[in-house]
Amino acid sequence: MINITEIITEGKGKRVYATERADEAIVYYKDEAIAFHGLKRGRIIGKGEINNRICEYLFTLLAQQGVPNHFIRRLDERSSLVKRVEIVPVVVKVRNIVAGSLARRISYPEGTRLRNTVIEYCLKDTEQDDPLVNLTHISAMRLATAEEMHQMEQTAIRVNEILIEVLKEISIELIDFKMQFGRFHGEIIVSDEISPDTCRFWDASTHEPLDIDRFRRDLGDAEGAYREVLHRLTGYVYKSSEEDT
Ligand code: 5GP
Repeated sequence: MINITEIITEGKGKRVYATERADEAIVYYKDEAIAFHGLKRGRIIGKGEINNRICEYLFTLLAQQGVPNHFIRRLDERSSLVKRVEIVPVVVKVRNIVAGSLARRISYPEGTRLRNTVIEYCLKDTEQDDPLVNLTHISAMRLATAEEMHQMEQTAIRVNEILIEVLKEISIELIDFKMQFGRFHGEIIVSDEISPDTCRFWDASTHEPLDIDRFRRDLGDAEGAYREVLHRLTGYVYKSSEEDT
């Protein structure tokens, strides 16, 4: 039994609790779905349990491939034990195919394959919708050191390679994803989550989104898409087991 002491932070898809162990936190995954600065709110039934299992699978895979990350172990259907990190206030986005804010910014059609992987940095500032910044902003604002940024970039590229490979085997195309990193005893490690909440996954044959865009864009059956990703990745068939609180 690990005792919770307080809520450290609550975001769109998760609540993070401090524990009596200074180095460990508990992530609780919620069914709540929020988009467009909170203007759109809803619930994707089972999302919390599914994301908990998808994160368990992907973080374990990353660790096996030598990518340090915050995951320790899954505790129950909706929560996992993680290393308690100091979050670097820079969101890293990795893009293989044009979609979302990049499509709007450069006026390219969604679905255009990029000649090379694009890495973007954004300020972690939900109030301002995570504005795009570059390395000189990050240095000027003392958000992270040049060495930390180099490490984050190299890790993001490696995570992209690993995810593309594993998803290709289950007929899912990795369009883009966002990552967050944390500082843990002087090391930069992958934190936050890697799930259909933070990635664009398209079915390789139909090009249908299997991610949070189903909710954002009212495409229907977001629940089915999340279940499908979990099933293709792990073989696990999701059946609702507990209520989100
Ligand atoms: P875009 O910048 O195109 O909106 O998003 C790029 C990638 O980051 C997409 O996979 C998108 O789902 C993810 N992403 C962007 N903003 C957020 C956010 O506020 N929360 C989450 N969970 N994912 C985001």
